[in-house]
Amino acid sequence: MHERITDFSEVEQVLNSEDRMLQASRCMDCGIPFCHWSCPVDNLIPEWNDLLYKGDWKGAYMRLAATNNFPEFTGRICPASCEHACVLNINQEPVTIRENEVAIVEKAFAEGYIKPEPPEIRTGKKVAVIGSGPSGMAAADLLNKAGHWVTLFEKDEKAGGLLRFGIPDFKLSKATVDRRFDLMIKEGLIVKTGVNIGKDISGKEIAAQFDAVCIAVGAMHPRDLNAEGRELNGIHFAMDFLSTQNRVNNGQIIATDNPINAKNKKVLVIGGGDTGSDCVGTSIRQKAESVTQIEIMPKPPVDRADDNPWPYFGKVLKTTTSHEEGCERFWSLSTVKFIGENNQVTGVEVEEVEWVYKDNHHSMEVVPGTRRIIDADLVLLAMGFVHPMLEGLLTELELELTQRNNIKVNANQSTNHQKIFAAGDSVSGASLVVNAIASGRKAAKEIDRFLRKV
Ligand SMILES: Cc1cc2nc3c(=O)[nH]c(=O)nc-3n(C[C@H](O)[C@H](O)[C@H](O)COP(=O)(O)OP(=O)(O)OC[C@H]3O[C@@H](n4cnc5c(N)ncnc54)[C@H](O)[C@@H]3O)c2cc1C
Ligand code: SF4
Repeated sequence: MHERITDFSEVEQVLNSEDRMLQASRCMDCGIPFCHWSCPVDNLIPEWNDLLYKGDWKGAYMRLAATNNFPEFTGRICPASCEHACVLNINQEPVTIRENEVAIVEKAFAEGYIKPEPPEIRTGKKVAVIGSGPSGMAAADLLNKAGHWVTLFEKDEKAGGLLRFGIPDFKLSKATVDRRFDLMIKEGLIVKTGVNIGKDISGKEIAAQFDAVCIAVGAMHPRDLNAEGRELNGIHFAMDFLSTQNRVNNGQIIATDNPINAKNKKVLVIGGGDTGSDCVGTSIRQKAESVTQIEIMPKPPVDRADDNPWPYFGKVLKTTTSHEEGCERFWSLSTVKFIGENNQVTGVEVEEVEWVYKDNHHSMEVVPGTRRIIDADLVLLAMGFVHPMLEGLLTELELELTQRNNIKVNANQSTNHQKIFAAGDSVSGASLVVNAIASGRKAAKEIDRFLRKV
C-alpha cells in the first residue's frame, strides 16, 4: 500500500495465466447463467470461462469480443453485477469474472490477435458521433465496422470522455484508452478533438452534413450544494479536481501549477459514491493531511438485507482500495453550512439525520442536538450529476427531454429528429461504463438499420 499511495498509476495487476484458468474452472456452467442475465452487455460468461479453463485463450477472446467492444475497460472498472449474480455468490465466493475478463483481453493484446480489422466494404454513408466517452466509442466502433464512415467529435483536447478525464489513472491507465483509440483509428475511424458541437460547429450543420448523428455527450451537469458559505474559496466540484489531476498525469498541466491541490490539506469529500471514493484516492496521492468522506444516506449493511436477495446486485457496504488507503467515513450526515475565514473555507457544519419510511416513501429527519463542525480547508462536492449540459448542442437542436432533463429517445434510440439518435449517460442519466457501452451498441445497431433503409 505504501508504494501504491505514492503512485498515480494503475493499481490492479493481472493474475498469472495458470491462476486465471484455475478461477475459470470454478465456473459451473449453470443451467440458468444468472451472471449472463445480470451483465448489461450480455457477456457470454460461462462460454468464455469454459474456453479459458480449457486453455483456449483466443477462443475465449472471440466469445468475449462478440458482446463487448471494450473488455479492457469493463474488466478493470465494472462493478461486476455478474459476480453479485454468480451462483457461487450465494456463499459469497463468486468466480472472479471481471478479473477473468481483463486477463482474456490483455492476453489477446499481448499475443497480437487483436489487430486493426478495417471493414472490407464501405457503404458510403457518413455518421457523426458527438462525444467520445464509452457510449460514443462503442457506437462509433460498431458503425465503422459495419462499413459506414464515422467521425467522432470531442470537445476536450483528448478523446475518451470520463474514461480519460474523470476516472483516475490508478483505476484505469490512460495508455489503455489510447491503445483502443489507436486501433479504431487504424480501422478507419476519424477522431476530431477540440471541437465543441453546438459552439464551434452547430448541431444543425452536423445534421445536414451527415446521414445520421449519434449524440453521446454524457451527463456532466454536477449536483450542487447550495448551503450558506458555498461561495468560499476551497470548495470545488469533484470533476474539476479529478480531471485536473488526470491532466497532470498526462503531462498537460505541470503538477506545481495544479490549482486544486490537496497537499497538506484537510480534505472533506461530500458524497459517498464512486466519484467520492476517487477523490479520496487522489487526495491521498496528493499527500493530504487528512481525508474525510461523508454521505447523507445511511451506512449500507455488510451483508445483503432481506429485501435485497441474491441474484440482484448486493446493496452492501463497499470499501474501495482508496478507502483502505486511509480515510474516515461517516454516514447519515447532512451539510448545514460551510464555515470560513478570509474567504477561505475552514470547516463544514454537519448534523445527523435519520431515514424513516412513512406514507410509502423514505424521508429524512434531523436528529436534534447533533450539529458539529468537521475541519476542512479543501471541500470536494461529489454528489453525482443531474443531467447532460443543456446549453449549447441540446438547446440548439431543440431536443426533446425527459422529466429529468435527459435526452428523450424512443425504443430505437432516436430523438425527436429522425436522423439524430442518442446514447449513454445523456439518455440514462449518470450511470456506468458498461451501461454506456451497451447503450452505444444499441444505438449503433438502430442507426445501421436506419441507414440501410434510407
Ligand atoms: C469520477 C468518476 C468515476 C467513475 N468511475 C466509474 C467506475 O469505476 N466504473 C464505472 O462503470 N463507471 C464509472 N463512472 C461512470 C462512467 O464514467 C460513465 O457512466 C460513463 O463514462 C458514461 O459514458 P458516456 O459515453 O455516456 O459519457 P462520458 O464518458 O461522460 O463522455 C461524454 C463525452 O462527450 C463530450 N461532449 C459533451 N458535449 C459535447 C459537445 N457539445 N461536443 C463534443 N463533445 C462533447 C464530453 O467532453 C465527453 O468527453 C465514473 C464517473 C465519474 C465521474
Ligand atoms: S461487463 Fe461487468 S457485468 Fe459484464 S461480465 Fe464484465 S464485469 Fe461482469
